[in-house]
Amino acid sequence: MLRLENVHTRYGNIEALKGVSLDVEQGEIVTIIGANGAGKSTLLMTICGSPKASEGRVLYEGRDITRLPTYDIVNLGISQSPEGRRIFPRMTVYENLQMGAVPTGGKWFEQDLERVFTLFPRLKERLHQRGGTLSGGEQQMLAIGRALLARPRLLLLDEPSLGIAPILVQQIFKAIVEINRMQGLTILLVEQNAYQALKIAHRGYVLATGRLVMAGTGRELLANP
Ligand code: ADP
Ligand code: ADP
Repeated sequence: MLRLENVHTRYGNIEALKGVSLDVEQGEIVTIIGANGAGKSTLLMTICGSPKASEGRVLYEGRDITRLPTYDIVNLGISQSPEGRRIFPRMTVYENLQMGAVPTGGKWFEQDLERVFTLFPRLKERLHQRGGTLSGGEQQMLAIGRALLARPRLLLLDEPSLGIAPILVQQIFKAIVEINRMQGLTILLVEQNAYQALKIAHRGYVLATGRLVMAGTGRELLANP
């Protein structure tokens, strides 16, 4: 579904990705783990075409990704600020979810909304609260729910566990597994929290200073300290 071939990405003189090649097959959860500054966010952004790879290719279903204006792929840069979480802080939870359904014309809104409530019951209890008044973990849930309403085919998740209470982290990882199992959605998950990510991933890669230094099934990498 997604293939990176020898991808290099530069910020001026800094080379943040130094020849990354990887494949994501349809229906998989693939995780990229690595320390702060390893290039994880850059990798997800390069997949979406900004910044562009200075060398190498990103192919989505065999075609150059930068030429595909598509809602098939959603990159949830949900790790940083409330803005980065891709929610509208002044809008209610319900309004945020409605915005998520805009790319599909709202055709499946009611039915998809029920699925989001099943995944994240907390959101249902807070429907008329403003997004900005939710806790960090709840905002994360809202961001994921909102992304699902666009019915993407590939979901890119940037450190969904960062800065979130452990109990909500558990719920978010559980929901990621459910989304993959029930909806068959392909997920590329970038994480510093290696243990949690590898536990749910079909396959994983370790990224260190812009290079993939290890690859294996989630289990293999967990066994490898
Ligand atoms: P991670 O997501 O793994 O923490 P990043 O992809 O954010 O890593 O960063 C990889 C490297 O690229 C780091 O050395 C970082 O300082 C650098 N970098 C990231 N964004 C920029 C930018 N906009 N301009 C210059 N350097 C950047
Ligand atoms: P319908 O037949 O009315 O289009 P389905 O429930 O059969 O709706 O789903 C159609 C496709 O959309 C399926 O591949 C399903 O996995 C996917 N899908 C349904 N709901 C969601 C959702 N909330 N997020 C992502 N994909 C979804």
